[in-house]
Amino acid sequence: MARNLDPKCRQCRREGEKLFLKGEKCYTDKCAIERREYAPGQHGQKSGARLSDYGVHLRAKQKIRRIYGVLEGQFRRTFAEAERRKGQTGENLLQLLEARLDSVAYRMGFGASRTEARQVVRHNGVLVNGKRVNIPSYTVRPGDEVALTDKAKAQLRTKAALAAAESRGFPEWISVDVKEAKGVFKAMPQRSELSPTLNEGLVIELYSK
Ligand code: SF4
Repeated sequence: MARNLDPKCRQCRREGEKLFLKGEKCYTDKCAIERREYAPGQHGQKSGARLSDYGVHLRAKQKIRRIYGVLEGQFRRTFAEAERRKGQTGENLLQLLEARLDSVAYRMGFGASRTEARQVVRHNGVLVNGKRVNIPSYTVRPGDEVALTDKAKAQLRTKAALAAAESRGFPEWISVDVKEAKGVFKAMPQRSELSPTLNEGLVIELYSK
């Protein structure tokens, strides 16, 4: 399976903000953005470099893609599905990304990061409505129950991730029973519940150029 092998902290430094790709490290002062808040590479510290119009659109798209850990082809397909659905394409896009099984598993605290949650999914650690699903891009539907298998529940890393997620609080669109390591994807998130720093409008403009 194709994966983005760019170092995670480098991806955050490229976008100039924390994308929370590495789990608990992101919440400590070991975070690379806390230490070096400039773009990576030889010219990263040059100040005043202005982005072209295309560059601004590209960065907005790359940021969303990187946060959700989706490669370009899959992102395009998700965008096409968002366009096909009723409602606003931008909001549909973010909802579809949030409804991916790896993303739902991450939001429920089954992994410290989306990457870790995806690994739990791929290693058969997650059940959807009682059935094993090991496809990270699987679209979870409102009302679906997502749970860890008994084996995954017993792992120290999933216990630690669940405890950390509980201490930070779960988002409104899911409910989680931490003790049972299961939760319900209650509804698609509203746009207002998602990060205001995401600019899906620029993604629509980019793809319609
Ligand atoms: Fe990004 Fe986390 Fe690395 Fe900080 S620690 S730069 S938030 S991946």
